Amino acid sequence: MLKLIRILFLMWLAVFSAWTHTAESLVLDAQLKAQDLAPYLVALEDTNGTLTIEEARLMFAAGRFSPVDPTKGFNKGYTRSAWWLAFQVRAPIENPLTDLPWLLELAFPTLDLVEVYRPGAHTPHRAGDTYPFSERPMRHVNFVFPMAHATPGAETVFLRVQSQGTLMAPLTAWSRDAFAASSQLTYAGQAAYFGALLAMVVYNALLWFSLRERVYIDYVLYVAFIGLGIGAANGMAAEFFWPDSGWLANYSYWAFGFAGIFLTRFARSFLNTAATSIWLDRSLRVAGALVAVPTVIGLFISYYAGGRLVSAALFIALMVSAGSGVYCVMHRIPGGRLYLLSWFLFLLFATMYPLRNYGLVPTNFFTVHGIQIGSLVEMMLLSFALAARINHIRADKEKAQKAALDEHALLVATLQETEKVLEQRVAERTEQLEQANLRLSSLSITDSLTKIANRRRFDEVLVKEWKRMERLGQPLALAMIDIDWFKKYNDHYGHQAGDACLVTVAETLAANVGRPGDLAARYGGEEFAVIAPGIDGAGALAMARKICSAVSAKDLPHAESLFAHVTVSVGVASLIPSAETEPDALLKLADEALYQAKATGRNRALMKPPADTG
Ligand code: GH3
Ligand code: MG
Ligand code: MG
Repeated sequence: MLKLIRILFLMWLAVFSAWTHTAESLVLDAQLKAQDLAPYLVALEDTNGTLTIEEARLMFAAGRFSPVDPTKGFNKGYTRSAWWLAFQVRAPIENPLTDLPWLLELAFPTLDLVEVYRPGAHTPHRAGDTYPFSERPMRHVNFVFPMAHATPGAETVFLRVQSQGTLMAPLTAWSRDAFAASSQLTYAGQAAYFGALLAMVVYNALLWFSLRERVYIDYVLYVAFIGLGIGAANGMAAEFFWPDSGWLANYSYWAFGFAGIFLTRFARSFLNTAATSIWLDRSLRVAGALVAVPTVIGLFISYYAGGRLVSAALFIALMVSAGSGVYCVMHRIPGGRLYLLSWFLFLLFATMYPLRNYGLVPTNFFTVHGIQIGSLVEMMLLSFALAARINHIRADKEKAQKAALDEHALLVATLQETEKVLEQRVAERTEQLEQANLRLSSLSITDSLTKIANRRRFDEVLVKEWKRMERLGQPLALAMIDIDWFKKYNDHYGHQAGDACLVTVAETLAANVGRPGDLAARYGGEEFAVIAPGIDGAGALAMARKICSAVSAKDLPHAESLFAHVTVSVGVASLIPSAETEPDALLKLADEALYQAKATGRNRALMKPPADTG
């Protein structure tokens, strides 16, 4: 009853309304190739989504549809209302029989529901991304409807569109031939775009496998989700990936959400923000979390609310990521310039799309496909930056290696230098030590007063020569020399003069015992001894007498001596050493001879046993 009243009211409106829409009708003739329908469109909002086609026709007749701004096209953004669209077509009057089947394209594949009411047809064409792909009237990435030829009288085509996502309806009337040619171009272009993305994904995935650096896998996931999102948004994914799932098609923003998460991760690893700026690192983390929350929650709430939340979060993440590039360029962080350039180009191309929607830039290839071109340029530049990064890392590594080598060489040189200095020091010390040893050993075998061999040296040489002569079977001679009345000399001239006398006697001894192997030594006190190897008894006595006369010849005054000058008594012996005898035997004999020399008047040399009796 209520509905009947409503229809009657509308009919009344339609009959009596003076206000009619001004949009003219589109003439479908042989000239038609591709005609944008925006200038011919009128639209009506159906807030509750309850209007029927009959009611819509009545509203149209009543002039309740308002014209669409032809520069912007039909674009309502996010809306919960259903919208009715209408436009009029007619065949040319001059040639009304032209049989021209044509195509109606709605180039916005994420619409949930599209109904097309053709003139004269009872059932509408139904399409939308919630319907299986196979049920579309024509297999195409966009919604395409085959239309019957028109009559000379104007006929009205009605469309009803509804979507939880953005509501847009870019409508085009095509001739079949023009549409086929354009479609081929569209698909070739899309294949090139997705092929390029796929190549970069595969290439960087391989780099990740070999380098195992986080930045490559972040890039791969970022690009993969961008590709998936764009594929879902432009209908390619719905056609090829999920032709029968309306649900997945609706949640295409879900892919953009993940792209946003990996975008912030990529920015962090590419710009190495953890090391360069903790502040920037935190901002990117927060932006990533900001996208992650609605992306996950969006899967469980309505498409309408989820889409708006993710879009807002994505916008923030996009700004933070692009802003990071500015920061990194300002702080001269490696890779920062390429990163910023890629963002600049992406935003430049991407903003063409909304600008075109508001009629601020002309419609052409670059503005229609701005987002795809921009994203492709960005991905390629970033991929290039990643490749350049390998070079950078290698250069760094080589620099570090060279530095390590230089340091090593320096260390070796220093070590060698130190070693040289040490060697020199050791040589100097060894030399000093040798001289000291020499001095020490000569000191230990020299008598400090008279500078001839001391008693220790005498003992050594006596044993050595004793053995040598034993081996050779030759005689060894020994003379013991004692200064006469030396106690009295000391008493008379003093101890110092006594010492001087001892020195003179030693010098005289040394001067008279010159054969190699001979040794003159101070035996103790004012007694001296001479060892003479290879000298027999006669030779030994001759040597002793020579010593005696040499000292006497010095003619050192000795007031207390019977001879009035310093004299010595000499006892001498010579033996051929044998295994049974000891050097002591020779000493004893020489001592006995000395004793006899003293006893028989001093200042003489005697031999034991006497040379003549030996
Ligand atoms: P004789 O003719 O019997 O040998 O009489 P002598 O006085 O030489 O007797 P003796 O051999 O007993 O005297 C040794 C003296 O030599 C005692 C000591 O005063 C002196 N004498 C020993 N050693 C040294 C010394 O190193 N320097 C000095 N100035 N005198 C010494
Ligand atoms: Mg004596
Ligand atoms: Mg004496």
